[in-house]
Amino acid sequence: MNAVLQCLSNTSALRDYCIRREYQLEGTGYRKKRCELMDAFASLISALWEPSASGSVNPIQFQQKFQKLVPHFAGYSDDEKSMQMWKRYLERDDSKIVDLFVGQLNSTLRCTTCGYKSTTFEVFCDLSLPLPKRLSMGDRVSLSECLSLFTAEEELDTDNAPLCGRCNQRKSSTKKLTIQRFPTFLVLHLNRFSLSHYGIRKSTTYVEFPLYGLSLRQCAANKAGNPIYDLYAVCNHTGTVNGGHYTAYCKSGGKWHVYNDSRVSLMQENQVVSTEAYVLFYQLDETRSIR
Ligand SMILES: [Zn+2]
Repeated sequence: MNAVLQCLSNTSALRDYCIRREYQLEGTGYRKKRCELMDAFASLISALWEPSASGSVNPIQFQQKFQKLVPHFAGYSDDEKSMQMWKRYLERDDSKIVDLFVGQLNSTLRCTTCGYKSTTFEVFCDLSLPLPKRLSMGDRVSLSECLSLFTAEEELDTDNAPLCGRCNQRKSSTKKLTIQRFPTFLVLHLNRFSLSHYGIRKSTTYVEFPLYGLSLRQCAANKAGNPIYDLYAVCNHTGTVNGGHYTAYCKSGGKWHVYNDSRVSLMQENQVVSTEAYVLFYQLDETRSIR
């Protein structure tokens, strides 16, 4: 939790929003329960950025509140068009957090018999990217390869084949995910943990990810443009499935820092990419993106 909190704390727009307590002015957007959680979160963020502060901040109060209130943030799907879905979603759940972190996925099913396509939309606040298999120790992959796997056309089992709207019967189909709407802050989870015959296994594959200029054109749905992102935080996992530790690398004031529980120190930019990177936090470069 510490590592993720540090990444969120270094999400500039979220930090400023919390320190200025702007959510208190939004009234209807936050129900009482959620406001309690925001209060706890904002207090923690304010304490972390208090100019006169020294030493470390214990997040115990936020943790207790979080455990009591864990908000349920479920994605859903429907067969309505993207914009209608998005509007309806905002009516139900509009907030600053949605403005900052939530995007929309396009999921298209295609009947392999007649080619008929049907599209559904669902919201996401992070994307969980698969790592390529078939790798031996020391192999390297690029983030782009993980993104390609994420958007690769998947053949659905004939056993649970979906109903084709044209053939009017269950037909073998393919499914493809693309991104319909890109968030300002994009959270990418490298799915290092997988189930094997021997239990849960952790992959230590070196994933090369860009610090600047990540283009997501390859994942974009038609007309979704060419968004460009820069990295500003990484949550790392060290160790094994049974015993591990989380740290955060975050950029603030143009410099990268390591956050390791109560310790913070400066680090070199060229140390940011490592085999321990687990969750990547990217910020949209508004000036270079085409949306
Ligand atoms: Zn069909």
